[in-house]
Amino acid sequence: MAESALRVDHSSPISDVQTAIIDLPFRRLQTFARFQARHQSIVLVRLRTRCGTEGLGEAVTPCGPWWSGDSVETIRSMIDHYFAPQLLDRDVFRLSETLALLDRTARGNSFAKAAIEIAAMDLIGKLLGTPVCNLLGGRVRDHVAMAWPLASGDFDADVAEMDSMLERGAASAFKVKMGMMPIDEDLRRVQALAAAARTRGASLRIDPNEAWTEAEARGAFKQLEDDAIDLIEQPVPRWNLQAMARLRGSACAPLMLDESVLSPQDMVQAIRLDAGDVVSLKLMKAGGLMRTRATAQMADAAGITSYLGTFLETSIGTAASLHLGATLPSLPLGGETIGPLLLAQDIVRAPIRYADGGAYLPDGPGLGVELDEDRVKEYTRTSG
Ligand code: MG
Repeated sequence: MAESALRVDHSSPISDVQTAIIDLPFRRLQTFARFQARHQSIVLVRLRTRCGTEGLGEAVTPCGPWWSGDSVETIRSMIDHYFAPQLLDRDVFRLSETLALLDRTARGNSFAKAAIEIAAMDLIGKLLGTPVCNLLGGRVRDHVAMAWPLASGDFDADVAEMDSMLERGAASAFKVKMGMMPIDEDLRRVQALAAAARTRGASLRIDPNEAWTEAEARGAFKQLEDDAIDLIEQPVPRWNLQAMARLRGSACAPLMLDESVLSPQDMVQAIRLDAGDVVSLKLMKAGGLMRTRATAQMADAAGITSYLGTFLETSIGTAASLHLGATLPSLPLGGETIGPLLLAQDIVRAPIRYADGGAYLPDGPGLGVELDEDRVKEYTRTSG
């Protein structure tokens, strides 16, 4: 074992880059502020070296291009036409140099770059025989507490889901997606769900996904004052950091930055403006594990709490997030990387394990997940 680790060939050129779009059904309707979805599409990225070792990466959007403008189709096209030719024959161990090359090749496209970086980190971990978290500084935890999104749009179904998730130990908190209905109706729904959560000893968080004006947010916070909401995510549009900063004074719970912080540079701006108490970390936003960890470290240095967000990934992307989460010294609110539970089918042999109110970091080298080739074949998009 020690001998094989020492014999690693530190020049491992990438010999093959493959992408596929995979369409997976959800267990139930997922409702966002302006959008509803019954399935999730992902871009699977496979990087191979000549010795046959393969790294897996995944890019997802929250069920469509509404969040960032990225879609699985554009992500795959960017990788196939622009990034893959740059990756071929490059030494996978020279990852920082490769990522800089991808930045010179195309501005933005953080979702596509994240999938590549995750695949490269999985590949490096496998070549070195060590988990990805060890490439990021090593773990401080093996388990992350999870919040479950209540997003069916139906009160009774949401409460039934709350009971089911608590009973199986898959989550210890809940998050309500808001913005789909008129604000007064939405607030009454949240108050009823907050009461249901309270009687079950669980906490409730809300996410209007930028749907409110500053004045609407202020009014909503007043109305929710007695409802023991423990986190408010991105109530106002992403560009309005000043409003986020002003709202902190009247908010009935800590304010979480999500859409407002896409990169380490955005984190700097949010810190300068005192625009949030918590930041949602998602690997797609910053372009992968290393840049997301940089965002987390800046947040930590400014006294802003990290939270492990999700775009509803399969067990591949979820494993990557958990490897990052495992290395963060402080993660008091846990996260919400519950994609594998919401998907009716996963594409790995042993999906992420949820128990004891959260998710366990998978074992094994790299990300610690292995593809189920039959499932991949079954759900791979073959047209368009
Ligand atoms: Mg959000």
